[in-house]
Amino acid sequence: MSEETTVNCPTCGKVVIWNEQSVFRPFCCKRCQLIDLGEWAAEEKRIPSNGDLSDSDDWSEEPL
Ligand SMILES: [Zn+2]
Repeated sequence: MSEETTVNCPTCGKVVIWNEQSVFRPFCCKRCQLIDLGEWAAEEKRIPSNGDLSDSDDWSEEPL
């Protein structure tokens, strides 16, 4: 009889259960949180992407 509150991750749209275990809510994971923060930071300050997210190495590896 437990009702779960869910939200959709603003970055990827994945369903996220809103509870204490979802530490990155409303994002599904830290990656989506960083992507979202990076997007508004880029819009605010217009920082050219210059290897700022050096922690991640398994995404955005495709040169456009
Ligand atoms: Zn996500």
